[in-house]
Amino acid sequence: LTKQTIDKINSEADDIQAYLSMNDQAIEKAKAIDAAGIDPDNIFSGMPIAIKDNIVTKNMKTTAASKMLENFTSVYDATVVEKLEKAGAVIVGKTNLDEFAMGSSTEKSAFKTTRNPWNLDTVPGGSSGGSAATVSAGEVPVSLGSDTGGSIRQPASFTGVVGLKPTYGRVSRWGLIAFGSSFDQIGPLTNNVKDNAHMLNAIAGHDEHDATSSKKEVPDFTEHIDAGVKGLRIALPKEYLGEGVDPEIKTAIKQAAETYQKLGATVDEVSLPNSKYGVMAYYVLASSEASSNLERFDGVRYGYRADGVKNLEDLYVKTRSTGFGNEVKRRIMLGTFSLSAGSFDRYFKQAAKIRTIILNDFQKVFKDHDLIMGPTTPTTAFKVGTESTDPTEMYTNDTLTIPVNLAGLPGMSLPAGFSKGLPIGMQLIGRPFDESTIYQAGYAFE
Ligand code: GLN
Repeated sequence: LTKQTIDKINSEADDIQAYLSMNDQAIEKAKAIDAAGIDPDNIFSGMPIAIKDNIVTKNMKTTAASKMLENFTSVYDATVVEKLEKAGAVIVGKTNLDEFAMGSSTEKSAFKTTRNPWNLDTVPGGSSGGSAATVSAGEVPVSLGSDTGGSIRQPASFTGVVGLKPTYGRVSRWGLIAFGSSFDQIGPLTNNVKDNAHMLNAIAGHDEHDATSSKKEVPDFTEHIDAGVKGLRIALPKEYLGEGVDPEIKTAIKQAAETYQKLGATVDEVSLPNSKYGVMAYYVLASSEASSNLERFDGVRYGYRADGVKNLEDLYVKTRSTGFGNEVKRRIMLGTFSLSAGSFDRYFKQAAKIRTIILNDFQKVFKDHDLIMGPTTPTTAFKVGTESTDPTEMYTNDTLTIPVNLAGLPGMSLPAGFSKGLPIGMQLIGRPFDESTIYQAGYAFE
């Protein structure tokens, strides 16, 4: 199976280009599992999986799709990698992303452009575009991505797969190259809802290496997955079917709401009035955190170092000027500005307040609803190379996913139809640590 998977990836590589590197020890690992005997009770035994290349691995490079880390190999494995390998999974390779996970199309990778298997002229979304595209293309059954503002759910939506961003703290971030530490979560991309629940079972749980990982008990997410939605109270925020959302996507979501009603759930219109400020708050907060997190790439400690420097300051300046791409530099500048003494009160503090207000909106809805539904993205996959000269236009892609990260909630995208041959994604948002209800409703719909 591992060999077949790798052959398939190599043969299709020209079209999709989902991988930045392959694991040259994968076959050996698979052989060892064969020799020991596949465990029939363990679905991960011998399962080929792909890992986003901002999650560190000992025996493969981890580049975060940046020139800065072009030749970087970690001395340790991320906790999620350790857990999956222990469960018997075989990592076949590391997938492409927007540099340091900053972007929505995977075009910001310093190394290659990944294509959407549904239409090679379109992007697979981002930043976990490689992880989404490889599952969508049927190369691997499951993969891992990371989601700071939508980077699992938006590519899942664009490529017609299932992608879950767990509750903040559900999965250890140890070994995930930090972007916005108070937002980042690792999560699974899969072909169907049940596989996704199995993956979360494998990666969730407290980790002493990540102080923000929760000690909350981890249920078996597959246990009640087939319980149906009878009696479930679902909220449909009117803002999620508002201006800027493609009419065909609105229709698909309204049809999904009818399906849920037929299955015995109630669906009420609600309001999340402050979600519209989410994108603004996110770009201040996430960029501020990024500017601090990315300080470590200084030409001394990790990876790339510029040549021909005169002194230490020159080393920093030349390394960072030539090692980072434009989008990353833009975020570092924006973040440094927001955190500077003269701007902190006006930008960072205001954005932090908006974050709380958005959380309050969600909490109000969850007082008498079990789940929120809506589209994942305002549009389906867009064409490769269509980015406008205004970088903030790309940011509006995440208007429907970002509020979920600001509030730390779990959210999942799953396929809900097609528009002009491209998949439409539906988003299900749950209460904190209630991924089970999301899976239950997703499973009933699919
Ligand atoms: N597209 C968003 C950004 O560029 C989200 C990225 C992410 O979730 N990693 O920041």
